[in-house]
Amino acid sequence: MIDRRHLLASVGLLPLAACASPARPPVTPAVATTPATTPAPAPVSTPARLPGEVVHGLRDRPMVALTFHGAGPYGLAERVLSTVERHHAHVTVMAVGTWLNRSIADRVTGAGHDLGNHTMHHLDISGMSKDRARAEIEDCAARLHELTGSSGAWFRQSAARHATPLIRELARAAGYRTCLSYDVDSSDFLDPGERAIAGNVLRAVRPGSIVSLHLGHPQTLAALPRILDGLHRRHLRPVTVTELLHL
Ligand SMILES: [Zn+2]
Repeated sequence: MIDRRHLLASVGLLPLAACASPARPPVTPAVATTPATTPAPAPVSTPARLPGEVVHGLRDRPMVALTFHGAGPYGLAERVLSTVERHHAHVTVMAVGTWLNRSIADRVTGAGHDLGNHTMHHLDISGMSKDRARAEIEDCAARLHELTGSSGAWFRQSAARHATPLIRELARAAGYRTCLSYDVDSSDFLDPGERAIAGNVLRAVRPGSIVSLHLGHPQTLAALPRILDGLHRRHLRPVTVTELLHL
């Protein structure tokens, strides 16, 4: 199902730190898995066709996608990945290009997790010139390709929940069919404590949800067993975004 209003409404949110977003964004998320071939809404200043933005998957399947901002200490990333694997989960890591090296790329993809593009330097690219924003997307894509042979299935905007029309256009030009947003914000980047992080996720999560988390925060690691147990009790299976969207 495509919600064209969402594509319009998701523009112009205030960017905060990390993958942050306003606590109550002025958008009611809806399924927005818009293939590149689908005509996008066409306000005067918007290109006729834009790559879509995925906010969540179908609501009638008992699956969710845990997506991680990929940065921070590698040892912490390893412990997060080991924890999700003990719970038989697969996740999606949206890597900051400067963080990515061959070891962590192999670790993520070798275990069957998704690896995507979260810009080269994790700056606020929506405030950049077109050329600088393009470089942030394409440099990370090149890094991914160099290390894995693929630029990854997904691109996620840095420093904002939603991609602007320009960023969507640049992402499409770099080979990404969709931009990856989310409908559940754990707010783990605020380090509110492991119980609060788990509560933020388990209160909001529904079938099809895409959850925003961060690899670089110890409280996220501490919250994961509670999150994974809670999902298991609700029969929600954590899968990659690729599996969530049946691609
Ligand atoms: Zn991020």
